[in-house]
Amino acid sequence: MNEYDSAKMFDLLEEKENFELAETEEDADLLVLNTCSIREKAQEKVFHQIGRWRKIKDKKPDLKIAIGGCVASQEGEKIIKRAPAVDIVFGPQTLHKLPELYKKKDKTNINQVDISFPKLEKFNHLPVHGTGEPSAFVSIIEGCNKYCSFCVVPKTRGHEVSRTIEDILNEISALAEEGTREIHLLGQNVNNFKGTYKGEKSSLAKLIELTAKIENIERIRYTTSHPHEFKDDLVEVYDKVPELVSHVHLPIQSGSDRILKLMRRRYNVEKYLLLIEKIKQVRPDMSFSSDFIVGFPGETKDDFMKTMDVINKVRFDESFSFIYSSRPNTTASDMPDDVEEEEKKERLNILQDRLNQLSFGFSRKKVGTVQNCLIHGQSKRDPGQLQGRTICNRIVNFSSNDIDLVGQLVNIQINEALPNCLRGNLQN
Ligand code: SAH
Repeated sequence: MNEYDSAKMFDLLEEKENFELAETEEDADLLVLNTCSIREKAQEKVFHQIGRWRKIKDKKPDLKIAIGGCVASQEGEKIIKRAPAVDIVFGPQTLHKLPELYKKKDKTNINQVDISFPKLEKFNHLPVHGTGEPSAFVSIIEGCNKYCSFCVVPKTRGHEVSRTIEDILNEISALAEEGTREIHLLGQNVNNFKGTYKGEKSSLAKLIELTAKIENIERIRYTTSHPHEFKDDLVEVYDKVPELVSHVHLPIQSGSDRILKLMRRRYNVEKYLLLIEKIKQVRPDMSFSSDFIVGFPGETKDDFMKTMDVINKVRFDESFSFIYSSRPNTTASDMPDDVEEEEKKERLNILQDRLNQLSFGFSRKKVGTVQNCLIHGQSKRDPGQLQGRTICNRIVNFSSNDIDLVGQLVNIQINEALPNCLRGNLQN
């Protein structure tokens, strides 16, 4: 979502203030940092980056520094107190005001801070145009009402607000017209999408059906869905819409019911596994990925082993895993962060080793098969190779100089599985 937001920040500055991307940081008149505060490490990186930029500003006093995103939303004015080189602070819901904040600062030299939550106002100001990229993100719902005990998102991005379906389809049509074939619908909690269609409250399932009808849209993905709100109509849509890929990211976080309760996730392992079965009944070839947190306050070895049990049962295709990080103003931050650091690291290593092993196993099984891939572009390392992605989002490299294949879906015979990608040959 931050990638999507950053692209929109640039679009706005380009459209409203005729900005262009500078070649280097030293050439810039404005440096914008879009920040993440999901874990403490990400937050600390912000101040290191401002420190580096301050040195550029010392030599070029007219340079402006703007800090956006979730750290900005969380810290507000305190950012300027800690780092006086910063001129502008704006939040995820006020990014559309960046050009205006820049202009005000430029004219008055007064620092500008706006981290308010003006609901959907932002989307009425964002330029709508295609990107020419084979795959594109489209934000459909902002914020989150779940208040999982570990998570800072409801505080930094605000409460859930859905865009209207008409507004979203408009953006997708503009993307499709300029060659985008894959749409990745985004939100902190997409399956609670409640955007209206023709004035009536609608659903993610309906949005997916309508997206698939747009000419040239051949693949649809969505992230992130919360297992608690994965409704039947969303399961059924897998039967109706072949463009919806057979891959779903469904974060479980822990395999211990006791920890899930402390996390306020609103489901237990049994319910999660039932949901997986339900989805598989409609799409037997479905692959699943997940997010995991290890070392949540009070997590015992036994709780951790239960997480390993779930991993072995579901056999996730690919996953993201993190050591618990205490975040400000979350209910878990009041619980004693009592798992030893060394123990947390060991658990993460064990978990990641198993996840990598499973993932590589899935990759190896693809050797000898033909995979339908969307071609994203040339390989960064070798321009004689093109790079595509399978339905489950694995990178596939193959020899070809035919740049016209970019943006097309083609069949690739897989010959080799490497830890981070597959290799194959283009099929005629
Ligand atoms: N909306 C998604 C979460 C998006 S954040 C959901 O509800 O599942 C992406 C991932 O970051 C989360 O799934 C979680 O695994 C991780 N995460 C969030 N807060 C964290 C914290 N305080 N410490 C460690 N990992 C965290």
